[in-house]
Parts: sequence; C-alpha cells; structure tokens
Amino acid sequence: MESQHTIRRYDERAAYGQRPMISRRGFCLCCVAGAFAATNGWLTPREAYAEARGIVSLIKDSAASSPVVTHKLRDNISLLEGSGGNIAVLTGPDGKVLIDAGISVSRPQLTRALAGLGTEPITHLVNTHWHFDHADGNEWLHAAGAKIIAQDNTRKHLSEIRRVEDWDYNFLPSAAGAIPTEVFATDHQLKLNGSTVRLKYYGPAHTNSDISVTFEEADVVHAGDTYWNGIYPFIDYSTGGSIDGMIAASDANLAAVTDKTIVIPGHGQPVSNKAELREFREMLVAVRENVSELKKQGRSRDEAVAARPTATFDAKWGQFVVDPGYFTRLVYQGV
Ligand SMILES: [Zn+2]
Repeated sequence: MESQHTIRRYDERAAYGQRPMISRRGFCLCCVAGAFAATNGWLTPREAYAEARGIVSLIKDSAASSPVVTHKLRDNISLLEGSGGNIAVLTGPDGKVLIDAGISVSRPQLTRALAGLGTEPITHLVNTHWHFDHADGNEWLHAAGAKIIAQDNTRKHLSEIRRVEDWDYNFLPSAAGAIPTEVFATDHQLKLNGSTVRLKYYGPAHTNSDISVTFEEADVVHAGDTYWNGIYPFIDYSTGGSIDGMIAASDANLAAVTDKTIVIPGHGQPVSNKAELREFREMLVAVRENVSELKKQGRSRDEAVAARPTATFDAKWGQFVVDPGYFTRLVYQGV
C-alpha cells in the first residue's frame, strides 16, 4: 500500500501543474498497463524506487519477471498475455505470425510460450502501432526470422527520434533490424497458414499509426490500442491520437465485427466481443460529451477534473493505470 500512496502523490503533483500534462509515470501508459496486467497490482516499493530511475527501467523490470499466459482463441489462433500489449499468434506450415512484439525483456517467457504453440519458426510480425510495449520486441523477433509489417507511420516513428513532450522522453531510432520492411498506407493483405489476414489503417486514433488485424476465416479481430477492454485508455496526442480519433476507431471496429467475432483489445481482459466493444464506445462518447460541456463553460482542465465528469463510469473503468483524473485530462485536451 505504501508504494501505491507514493505513486498517487506523484500523480497529484503532476496533475496540478508544474510538470507536463502526463507525468513521468505516464511515459508510456500502455506499457505500464501491460506490466501491471501481468503483475496484477500496484508497484512494490522496489518498483517505486525503479520509477525514480525512469519508467523504462520500471517497465523492463516488471515485464522481465511477469509470466506470459497463453489463451487458445479459435482455429490456429492463440493469444499471449503478459508482455506489454496483447499478442496474437497465427500458427501453421507458413510459420508463426505474430501480431505485436511485446517488450524485449520478456523474450525468455515469450520464447517458451511460442514453443508451446508448435515447432514452426517465427516468420512474420505485424505491429499494430509504434508504441514500445507493442514493438520493443521487434529486434529479437526479426533476428529469429520474422519479417516485420506495419503502417507507414509506425516505420517512420520507429526510424526517427521521437520527442514525446508529455512523457518527458526521447525515443531513439530503433535498431535497423527492428524497423518494419513491409509497409502500407491504408490496406494490406497476407495469405498465411490458410488464413486471410487483413490489415487496415484506422487513420488517427490512439496514435497516427494504428491498424486493425482481421483473421477473416476464424473471425478474429485484433484492434490494437484503439480498444482497451474494461479500462480507461491512454491516448497519445503526441503522435496523432485524440479522443475523437478513438471514437471514430471504435465506430470502425463495431462496423467490422458481428456478435460471433472474437475481439482482441490492446490492453485489458484479452478475449472480448462486440457487446464489450460497444460499451467501450459508449463510455468514450459519454465522457467526451461531459468534458466538452465543462470546457464550453470555461472550466480549466483542473476544474474539469474536479467536476468528475467520468463519475458514473469510474467503478468499472477507473480501476487501472489511467485513472479518472488522468482520463479526464486526456479527453479535455481533445475537445
Ligand atoms: Zn499504445
């Protein structure tokens, strides 16, 4: 509990001003979420100390010791949970096809989990977007044999220095082997392991590099970080995300699935469906409306947070890393 209080105090300082809008802890909230999902809890005192050294260290420390859990989804598709964002794996004679790469320090756990899915080599990796907790494993997976496929902006972000002001962090260019070599602007299709894999760009959403990945025959969709199941999402304005982009992506997701579709969120309980997706979309729209109304009334960001525009949703959605105040600030920035 003590470490929880430590972190909360830290957040409060960040909330009131002198720091950039997103605290250092928020350096990459989806990474933190992934690490927390795997460890199922708040920071230990040792981890709180690690935070002082920098959030990258914290995330690596957490991911390094987190277990990776395998979920069998449908046909030859499985899901690996515990290394950053949720990772989907398509297996078969063409080799293993991964959707997202997780965090590189999870390599031992991921290697074991992947071996448990069969003896085929790893041949393909798709990044749903450029964030660290989805692409940090690119380099080792490429070295293991994966061709990396992504949207144009993912390659761009991974290839250049990215100063993310709100995270107070400079992302250096990734190693050559980690850069996607097969890129596309709006749509792309792969035929692998008897499966049609359709990749589709959302336009600006959680970032400006997000794609959905649809396994057509199995009727499984990976929505990347446009969908956080049962938890408030992080939105990365620094590389093109926005609340309106998140809502547009949710509409696209809903239009693309049926009640039978298995929907994989970037974070949160990994096996989801259309009904839960609809709930997420309705939450986003309602909070946007409430926050927008407060901003129109001339309330400052902190006044908007104090008015608790997320109150009716907090019991369900506010129990994770992006807490109600944080989510309110993210929405406020975009309305
Ligand atoms: Zn993300």
